[in-house]
Amino acid sequence: MRTIEQADARAAVERAVQAARPLAREGAVASYIPALAGADSSLVGLALVDSDGRAFESGDSRRRFTMQSVSKPLALALAMESAGEDAVFSRVGKEPTGDPFNSIIRLETSERRKPFNPLINAGAIVVSSLLPGSGASEKGEAFRAFAGRLAGRGTLERDEEVFRSERETGARNRSIAWFLAELGLLACPVDDALEVYFRQCAALVDALDLARIGAVFALDGLEPGTGERLMAARTARVVKALMFTCGLYDESGEFGVDAGIPAKSGVGGGLMAAAPGRCGIGSYGPALDRRGNSVAGLAMARALSAELGLYAL
Ligand code: GLU
Repeated sequence: MRTIEQADARAAVERAVQAARPLAREGAVASYIPALAGADSSLVGLALVDSDGRAFESGDSRRRFTMQSVSKPLALALAMESAGEDAVFSRVGKEPTGDPFNSIIRLETSERRKPFNPLINAGAIVVSSLLPGSGASEKGEAFRAFAGRLAGRGTLERDEEVFRSERETGARNRSIAWFLAELGLLACPVDDALEVYFRQCAALVDALDLARIGAVFALDGLEPGTGERLMAARTARVVKALMFTCGLYDESGEFGVDAGIPAKSGVGGGLMAAAPGRCGIGSYGPALDRRGNSVAGLAMARALSAELGLYAL
């Protein structure tokens, strides 16, 4: 395994944040979930956690924000570990779509009759329905405990305002969920599946948490530093493969070519990346491009990958 020199990591993280700050002006914060609209678009934070568990941070790396879609690869890992790989992939595919994250169209037009992958909203809502526990609150808690464990700390908190705001306004996700129910793909009642999905999206993290989580995936399920196994190697590999091909919605291919590492973004401004065998990267920058990805996050992940030679392929 190639290790990352501490001085290199520190300098690269610092430089990436400085270079990304002016870019934040080019994006806009998400406003379709009303409670996200008030975020400060100028914030930029970055963290990198290496395979020994050492953390390098710069900017607003301790600023908390909601995970949103960054929760999807974690929920996928938890569902694979608890319900099993077959239960998940009998209901959800493994193929990229090239469509926006909340697209519904292929549920009707595709012959597959199941969501293309677990990282678009349709697939993620199916995965939420498979989380362990008997009702929405147990499933939501299982998610926050698992995500907190991957981040190397206790259970994550939830942003109540963002949760309610999305629950009250999430007509598109409700439409998707009812369509999934009609196809017989949900493992629990439709309202519970939506509630779990909205809860996991509202889980609170900072960039350092995301870097720690990314490092666990990077190390095929081992906790950086301690070497403790937190998920099966197979789970971590499947999740990384899907992040690489589908993690940044209809920008996944471009990012894969440029940065060469698996990553997942969220409309709250977070980005989590896993450079296989090397490190985890977490970033925050709520200004988004038109596809819903953090402008600063993409730029910083690209910069770190180039400077530290993180390309996986
Ligand atoms: N909760 C958001 C939604 O479903 C997540 C989307 C995202 O982060 O891409 O619309």
